[in-house]
Amino acid sequence: MALTGLQIQKLLPKTNCKECGSNTCLAFAMKLAAKKADLSQCPYASEEAKRVLGAASEPPVKLLELGETKSLKLGDETVLYRHEKTFVNQTALAINIADNDDPARIDTILAHIRDYKLERVGETLIIDMVCVTQTGSDAEHYARIANKVRESVKRPLVLRSNNPEGLRAAGKAVSGSNSVLVAADADQTRKLLATAQEFGHALAVTADSLDELAALTAEIKEKGFNELLLHIHSQSPAEQWQSRTIARRAAILDNFKPLGYPGIHFIDKGDLFAAAVEAIGEICKYGGICVLPTFDTALLAPLMTLRMNIFTDPQKPIQVEPKLYPIGEPKADSPVFVTTNFSLTYFIVSGEIENSGISAWLLVPECEGMSVLTAWAAGKFSGAQIAKFAKEIDLESQVSSRKIIIPGYVAQISGELEESMPGWQALVGPQEAADLESFIKAKLN
Ligand code: SF4
Repeated sequence: MALTGLQIQKLLPKTNCKECGSNTCLAFAMKLAAKKADLSQCPYASEEAKRVLGAASEPPVKLLELGETKSLKLGDETVLYRHEKTFVNQTALAINIADNDDPARIDTILAHIRDYKLERVGETLIIDMVCVTQTGSDAEHYARIANKVRESVKRPLVLRSNNPEGLRAAGKAVSGSNSVLVAADADQTRKLLATAQEFGHALAVTADSLDELAALTAEIKEKGFNELLLHIHSQSPAEQWQSRTIARRAAILDNFKPLGYPGIHFIDKGDLFAAAVEAIGEICKYGGICVLPTFDTALLAPLMTLRMNIFTDPQKPIQVEPKLYPIGEPKADSPVFVTTNFSLTYFIVSGEIENSGISAWLLVPECEGMSVLTAWAAGKFSGAQIAKFAKEIDLESQVSSRKIIIPGYVAQISGELEESMPGWQALVGPQEAADLESFIKAKLN
């Protein structure tokens, strides 16, 4: 939990020597509390102050970085509800395969995982991880399959087994992949610590209850290892929801470090509908890694869409880059449409133009990610603003057409636009993008 200025001042020397650039220790403490200064600016800070302030500045939920380039990030969360600020790192989705699955089936699933891409509002969504579960007893075979999966998908793995020897062999085989090791229970988790440390993997701490989990994470951290995830097994979806919520509240509200880690959850049982319900619970309520039982696009597409909505910053509209977009293969004399840079608006409008079968230009000025009417009301989508942007990108050198189609909702800017863009004719398009196709057929063909 963040410390106040007064709490920080008690940790400082209180000599008011000014060497930190502040007139008093209290003034410096206030800056530290507001994160506008760094403790290293005070040459006389005690070890106690460094320890306490260092711990206070850690995020309540530990950041974990997985994968060869550490590009998959988990945790680092600071709020309970996304509207308070934003959630930072989304729930990673993994697909489970077993080492004793039919080799041809494994190859097929790996190809599906490699190829799966979901394009949504300008972002490409992929499967984050693969879980390799040891179901046989041959540690070397398990290690070979783990390595094959790593080579095939080039993503971090979740390695799960009841057999510490198998996990050691597989952990060694995929050393450098910054993956996650998951043992069957608390005793095996302790045994697995050396493997995680030696081969650079994160360790899922497995226990039967939150109390046991908190005790075990504290014990492992005391031994100098802190790349941990929380894993309670054998819980119903309702219990799992409750445990995640209690852990997150303890971490955020009470700064309770033993539960301040991302979680991992496996969905092994049930049909597709039951899997979807459990996964939705993970995404909405604080899941770190959610392992799905199988590759199924009917499950992945809605989960990724939901996840995108939960983990986008509610204070920042999703935007596309302001520029002139070609739709299809436009020529210089193709028609020019204009809309705002709110992603949803851009993709709906560009999709409808594409569906009409024509090629065209779509001018997208900077509107701070607002929709058409909101941008107009905020003065970001006026005739003068559109003309200014057209000038900035030198629109007239890129197109020969001098007709620009504006959204029907802002028909009132047509006069101002024509005045600001001499030689251009502003055509008022339909209010709804869904009517663009019929507008194009009636007015532009
Ligand atoms: S340098 Fe340290 S001791 Fe000196 S005024 Fe700043 S905080 Fe206080």
